[in-house]
Amino acid sequence: MRLILFGPPGVGKGTQAKLLAEEFGIRHISTGDMLRAAFAAGTTLGRKAKSLMDAGQLVPDDVMIGIVREVLASPDNKKGFILDGFPRTLAQAKALTKFFDELKITDYRVVNFELDDDEIVRRLNNRLVCRKDGKIYNKEMDGLSPGNPCPACGGELYQRDDDLAETVRKRLKVYHMTTAPVIEYYKAGGMVVNIDGNSSIDVVNREIKMMVN
Ligand code: AMP
Repeated sequence: MRLILFGPPGVGKGTQAKLLAEEFGIRHISTGDMLRAAFAAGTTLGRKAKSLMDAGQLVPDDVMIGIVREVLASPDNKKGFILDGFPRTLAQAKALTKFFDELKITDYRVVNFELDDDEIVRRLNNRLVCRKDGKIYNKEMDGLSPGNPCPACGGELYQRDDDLAETVRKRLKVYHMTTAPVIEYYKAGGMVVNIDGNSSIDVVNREIKMMVN
């Protein structure tokens, strides 16, 4: 299974990636998680990335392409992988095609999640993330607050700095201007499947599995 999960922030890519990675024993490659881990580790890259992330901006292509090149080259990915949050620009998509060619990867799918902006703002405003296992919750639906323990692993739940309403609006602007057009690049190759981001977690999970089987 080789998937590229594509779509706006807050649409459910991370949730689905985690479920599928667990079910199939394959790697979840989240560039956002990697940048947050770099910041938590106190690296220079992490600090630089954090200020861009908090401003709702993208991290430069050369940095992101370098990170993904290294990860994809690892033998851990032989069984498959789920890319979540990459590519976000046309330059990244073209670089990825080049890596796939080099690695002789021909069979992959692009899962294109669709959801309207108002629902995204509502969801991100309600999103809580576990510091330990990265699981994602919804304040309203799950009845949880920042600081509560994660129901799955007991880690601390927190709200991402870039999930504040004002930053979400900026991220959406960047998404519509820079990232959304990238889907045309993949549509031209005929490997895109659309997913309704309003469907439940279970329904989306089933749809993705049906599509890749
Ligand atoms: P995410 O966790 O995927 O929502 O990513 C959080 C933030 O990390 C984004 O808003 C960007 O600032 C940065 N980021 C993650 N992936 C990329 C990427 N492929 N290209 C540029 N910036 C990225």
